[in-house]
Amino acid sequence: MASCYLCGAQIPKGQGVRKTLYTGMGISGFSLFSSVLLDWILNTALRRRPAYVRSYYSVKMICGPCAASAAAADKRKLLVLGVALLVVTVLALVIVAANIVTR
Ligand SMILES: [Zn+2]
Repeated sequence: MASCYLCGAQIPKGQGVRKTLYTGMGISGFSLFSSVLLDWILNTALRRRPAYVRSYYSVKMICGPCAASAAAADKRKLLVLGVALLVVTVLALVIVAANIVTR
């Protein structure tokens, strides 16, 4: 019997959900810190250009409740991403408009 990758619950046969999950992040170069962000800053500073970031995904079996909460989390992330894109677009438009006005 399989167990849930996220919560460890036993999954009865045929009831699990196969999902591609984000299993980690890696940076090409040195890895000194436990934080990916700090490693990225270090490697970017050393090379004087943005370090290459790799994301690792793999297909895992998870239980029904975890699949539901993962879907809800995905929706929240999409919403945040949408709002962030909107803010960036509005900012870009404001900058362009400001340039036109001052010209
Ligand atoms: Zn689970």
